[in-house]
Amino acid sequence: MKAFRVPINYRSPLISAIKNHRRQADKMKKDFSPTPLDFGRLQIYLARHFGFCYGVENAIEISFRTIEENPGARIFLLSEMIHNPRVNGDLKEKGIQFLQDTYGKQLIPFSELKADDIVIIPAFGTTLETEKTLHEIGIRTEKFNTTCPFVEKVWNRSQQIAERKYTVIVHGKPKHEETRATFSHAAFSTATLVVKDMEEAKKLAAFILSEKKGPEFYEAFRDQFSQGFDAERDLERIGVVNQTTMLASDTQAIADFLKQTMMKKFNLSESNIELHFADTRDTLCYATNDNQSAVSGMLEIKADLAIVVGGYNSSNTSHLVELCEEKLPTYFIKTEENLLSQSEILHYDLRKKVERLTANYLPSKQDSRILLTSGASCPDAMVESVIRKLAGYFQAEPEIEKLLESFG
Ligand code: SF4
Repeated sequence: MKAFRVPINYRSPLISAIKNHRRQADKMKKDFSPTPLDFGRLQIYLARHFGFCYGVENAIEISFRTIEENPGARIFLLSEMIHNPRVNGDLKEKGIQFLQDTYGKQLIPFSELKADDIVIIPAFGTTLETEKTLHEIGIRTEKFNTTCPFVEKVWNRSQQIAERKYTVIVHGKPKHEETRATFSHAAFSTATLVVKDMEEAKKLAAFILSEKKGPEFYEAFRDQFSQGFDAERDLERIGVVNQTTMLASDTQAIADFLKQTMMKKFNLSESNIELHFADTRDTLCYATNDNQSAVSGMLEIKADLAIVVGGYNSSNTSHLVELCEEKLPTYFIKTEENLLSQSEILHYDLRKKVERLTANYLPSKQDSRILLTSGASCPDAMVESVIRKLAGYFQAEPEIEKLLESFG
């Protein structure tokens, strides 16, 4: 993978040494077992894959380079560059202003922009409407566009489906920046609908199978269908693409379910399914697949708890949390600062969408086993800080230097 210039304080010598060691030993990326870190009474199992992905490193490099190369210019980010509060905070400290929040709410009106301002498009990409608005002001976005190539791949896939006269069904979170961008690009060429989860896929199936009809559709999928969408006409031929960071098992289940629905509706078999259902493989990105497979590998270890580090609004991180939660007590933390002490942790409750304080999160028994991973927008330095803090609770900090030597 291309090496990017990322601020050194996001890197971690320990994590880099571990990742490098694992990469050398497993060049084909077939081994998803975690890396054991032995701190005596504390055993940490570090996921095989985690941390900054291609798209995030690319976006960070372009953003910091833009600041360096344009002293005195007004620099804006369309919205959060990636879903990591520390990285976004660092950019703000360097003078970058955010035009929209993560859900598209305007923080600074576009009318305040001038033609010589710089606007950076984040890794999630943006909508065609926003791009048009910026171009009309005279702002050139090409040089400062950090849209991840794996997101663009989804747009290309949607385009291919559209050209073959299918409606695009986007499996994604309707308010997520990437899904809004993908929706906009797909809707430019064909009827498009966003489906959030299996529950919504089942609702959609009821309309496809004519079990439900009429205006109910527009209520059930409010704000999730393209302009002029006609539920009678536009559900005859469909193809599914995904937000790149969805849970792989959900994505597969939804695509399979909708395929079966079309088979039932039109009495089709595998040989002629293409008449009504586009044959597309999922559009999850490599980092989503690697990180989720690494969590599955990590969960084969019998442990007391799991810690997942990342931004609370990070889609890819939240899916790692969901996978861990199925198996053992899991704590979703933003930074090492959430480890308040050996006995208290401040962590995010995904379902209730609030931070919660939990006491006695570390086991009281002699030995503790902790699984540890992070999302694709989390700096490795933050994971090292978590390791250092945990090791400190077990008076095992000196072991970190020995680990560094052993992986170096
Ligand atoms: S998670 Fe995937 S799609 Fe998103 S920025 Fe990273 S590599 Fe790109």
